[in-house]
Amino acid sequence: MNIRVLSPDTAAKIAAGEVIIRPASVVKELMENSLDAGASKIAVYLEKGGKGLIRLTDDGEGISPADIELAVKRFATSKLESADDLIRIASYGFRGEALASMAEVSELTIETQVRDAESGVMLKVKAGQIIEHREMVRAPGTTVTARNLFFNLPARRAFLKGEPYERRLVLAMLKNYALLHYRLHFTASNPRGDLINYPACDEWLDRIKDIYPSLADRELIVFSEDHRLLSIRGVITAPGQSVEGPRIQHTFFNSRPVQYRSVYRAIMQGYAPLTVQNPPSFVIKIECPAHMLDANIHPTKTEVRYREERFLFDFSSQAVRKAVHAEARENLDVSHDPLGRNKMPFDRSQLSFSAPSRELKPYPADRIGERLDGSKIEPIDPDLTHRELTAPDQPSYSGGEHSGFWQLQGTYILAQTSSGLIIVDQHAAHERILYEEMLERMGENPARQPLLFPLIVDLSPEEFATFEEIASDLSQLGFDAKPFGPNQVILETLPADARISAGDLRELFGDFNANQEVRLGNRNKMAALITCRAAIKAGRVLSRQEMESLINRLFCCKTPFFCPHGRPTVIRFTMEDLDKRFGRI
Ligand code: ADP
Ligand code: MG
Repeated sequence: MNIRVLSPDTAAKIAAGEVIIRPASVVKELMENSLDAGASKIAVYLEKGGKGLIRLTDDGEGISPADIELAVKRFATSKLESADDLIRIASYGFRGEALASMAEVSELTIETQVRDAESGVMLKVKAGQIIEHREMVRAPGTTVTARNLFFNLPARRAFLKGEPYERRLVLAMLKNYALLHYRLHFTASNPRGDLINYPACDEWLDRIKDIYPSLADRELIVFSEDHRLLSIRGVITAPGQSVEGPRIQHTFFNSRPVQYRSVYRAIMQGYAPLTVQNPPSFVIKIECPAHMLDANIHPTKTEVRYREERFLFDFSSQAVRKAVHAEARENLDVSHDPLGRNKMPFDRSQLSFSAPSRELKPYPADRIGERLDGSKIEPIDPDLTHRELTAPDQPSYSGGEHSGFWQLQGTYILAQTSSGLIIVDQHAAHERILYEEMLERMGENPARQPLLFPLIVDLSPEEFATFEEIASDLSQLGFDAKPFGPNQVILETLPADARISAGDLRELFGDFNANQEVRLGNRNKMAALITCRAAIKAGRVLSRQEMESLINRLFCCKTPFFCPHGRPTVIRFTMEDLDKRFGRI
């Protein structure tokens, strides 16, 4: 094999592909530029879901004619002077890659005029080459148009999905920013007319309800918590409301929409004692001094890392706990007297496993200062943090024959923890594990295992018709079945670690057919039904290793405490609970 240096042209295209993946990523980058430019109105126009044309118009500060050619050069940015500044970034941009990338993989036109200038400028670039540059007059602000995305990267273009799908992603991206910047006016349209119109609001809550009308009917808790190094503001649905439909869950960190796993876990943990069957919807924004956040760990900046992960975890989970539980106490009229909880209208013992076993102590502020002053701030592994923080709930392996695992009636696993005892429903736990693993790996290359002896089942004509409609979705989940004969199906692979008998398989196709959401293509539902039939059954004897592995994997899940149908997977008894029962305290 020869190692060759890539031609500059190829290298530029590859780099462009890291930032620009699809129309929604173009919109994200343009949107951030407009926000950085101080726009008060941002309009998006799409053709073919953005695959034909994406145009974004703002009334921001504009780009001066002298800078315009620089703006489309790689690593050209007005927002960063040197690498040292990287840790002090307060604006969205700073890599100076977005416009250059778009200019590489589309036909890009920029029309812009600086406020108070007599005239502006127009620049057209195609595949990295400037093809037109002239003076023009327009209203102050900037319009960027990207045509024929990936026209010169056919493989990338082929990877794009249909128009409705790409449009949905673009609009979701726009909503993300509109959700946060409620004082600005956002619109989106296509040749058929308006798609979105969010006029400027005075209150954050109004914008949230504008974007998610379903939240307008719900009881919402607004909360905020401040610290020198962190502040959190949020809206979360009050517990105990039965709700249909998908959860609305948004986290912003220093104004960036982010996926932050340990923040998500912290929120869930703060909310946990009341989540049975009902995880919350929330919109949460976290702010911190720029030097505390590394926003530069991912090209599209959807992942960020706070320098004190453990503090972040404690702080956000406490903020949520405080808000939600203050609310819950008011609503349920339960006094602060610990015995008063018997007055609760539901069985608290069901929930006791997730009640905080210890009060989390405030993170010592002086320790943070110390570590900041020192030069070696080591990023803390979020999982490790999580493990440490939840240590009291985790099994402790004290050695010995059993190492603290027992199986009860082939159904429940009992495990000793450092703070007491947990009881795990082996079927529900395995369902949760399979479910999350399946959804996490969903796509072109799911975790699947071929069956040594493929299973063949006979279906009714209706079941067969349903199967044909959803076969490709099932395959993305690792569940590969093919038509075999008339109304006959052969199952060739199962999601990794799943197992199923011919009888259960037959039932499963019945489940698919009976479920309307499945018929409409809801993959989460499909995964839930598969796990229900393919998880370890009650009655199966497990080895100690199997129990240990099951519990370890359960605690690696995002929502370890509930099975996909919302039933609890774990019940916990703390030593305190037991001591009380035995009248010791
Ligand atoms: P970055 O945002 O990382 O600086 P971009 O490639 O997105 O890099 O933009 C390059 C530069 O072009 C920006 O730094 C900014 O000066 C200018 N620019 C881009 N879009 C706009 C806009 N809508 N309004 C004003 N200036 C803009
Ligand atoms: Mg930018």
